[in-house]
Amino acid sequence: MKNKLKNFLSAPVSRREAVSTAAKLGSAVALSNAISLPFTSIARANIPTSAGAVNAGEVVRHSACLVNCGSRCPLKVIVKDDRIVRIEPEDAKDDAVFGEHQIRPCLRGRSSRWRVYSPDRVKYPMKRVGKRGEGKFKRISWEEATAFIANELARVSEKYGREAIYYNYQSGAYYHTQGTPAWKRLLNLTGGYLNYHNTYSTAQIATATPYTHGKYAGSHFTQIAHSDLVVLFGLNLSETRMSGGGQVEELRRALEASKAKVIIIDPRYTDSVITEHAEWLPIRPTTDAALVAGIAYTLISENLIDEAEVNKYCVGYDSSSLPATAAPNASYKDYVMGTGSDGIQKTPEWAAEITAIPATRIKQLAREIAAARACYICQGWGPQRHANGEQTVRAIQTLPALTGHFGRPGTNNGNWPYGTPYGVPSLPVGTNPVTTSIPCYLWTDAILNPEKMTATTQGVKGADKLKTGIKLFFN
Ligand code: SF4
Repeated sequence: MKNKLKNFLSAPVSRREAVSTAAKLGSAVALSNAISLPFTSIARANIPTSAGAVNAGEVVRHSACLVNCGSRCPLKVIVKDDRIVRIEPEDAKDDAVFGEHQIRPCLRGRSSRWRVYSPDRVKYPMKRVGKRGEGKFKRISWEEATAFIANELARVSEKYGREAIYYNYQSGAYYHTQGTPAWKRLLNLTGGYLNYHNTYSTAQIATATPYTHGKYAGSHFTQIAHSDLVVLFGLNLSETRMSGGGQVEELRRALEASKAKVIIIDPRYTDSVITEHAEWLPIRPTTDAALVAGIAYTLISENLIDEAEVNKYCVGYDSSSLPATAAPNASYKDYVMGTGSDGIQKTPEWAAEITAIPATRIKQLAREIAAARACYICQGWGPQRHANGEQTVRAIQTLPALTGHFGRPGTNNGNWPYGTPYGVPSLPVGTNPVTTSIPCYLWTDAILNPEKMTATTQGVKGADKLKTGIKLFFN
């Protein structure tokens, strides 16, 4: 059975063969998953005897992994007789030179061959022939497909206007479709479309951060080379930025240089906890703001804050820097110490009840951060992906300000770290004549309840309300 599986995975397959063989091998694949066989057996099956060698009849094509993981790793695609026989990492860079290292794809990129030859892949235009949801489709020609789309575009434009046409924010194949924005170009050139704003990843942090810092920015991970303590809230690079060239690699190299202690606050025991040799503080999801308040209470009550310095750079820490327009006792210190409007002291014991982190550990954490020479505090995007995520974002951003760990080597302002941008070739998309845009999460409302979509209730931008609902959806 093991040999059959290996042959199945390494041989060129037609779609029909793949479907039929997959069905026969279904139980074997399930069994293999349970004992962690597939990746190792495939890796061995695909690795040439001498790494990087190209065998007779094979040619190398250069491509990239285009899923939306935040990286875009280059791939060497080895092709024989017009079929991909294996995927290898690019090897043009010398690992010995810092900053010139290879960008190594993770298993997801290395298994791109599986995607290309997956029996589940839609390879031809398929038109729905049954009722929606019934799962009945028939294959049509490319000519029929393009004519159908063109006719629908014209029909909907004429009947409802261009605001009824929506181009959806996709994520899984983001770099294919949005990085090469042929659809947006087409829609712009033919009259425009209803746009979206925000992203699935950063809606709350991008919106909330300007209220704290004025703009969305952070220090580079390479600053950690100068830190002695790193505190990460819900940041799990080993699973979300796993390329050998991106931020996980920068973090790894910076930690190697500084040997800083790492503390990860996360509901899950993640791969990052393991690979970064971190102390894990498990926390109840969505309670990070309470943890920060408990830390702040310790900092204030143990006199660990340089209040003159905080008031010099921040507005509203205590009454001395509170704007005259603010309500009395509306300062951050009043909120934490229980003299604000809710009258609740945010003690470590109070925070422990909410977060499930023991009060003793909360106090210790406050003292550790205060005593650090250079503490790098940052947050991932998980903690803000909840109701009230904006408040979580802003709470975490107060910690560096309270402890003076900002604006110096080895520190950060509590944000997601700055990443080096790199240019990617792309088609010009032109200008969208339709200025209306909706939050990316709310497209379902724009279909079902468009009359309720307004600027004040649902965050519509560029117009007070939607003129019409979505009638044609590009996804
Ligand atoms: S890190 Fe993995 S998923 Fe991301 S681009 Fe590279 S190979 Fe693809």
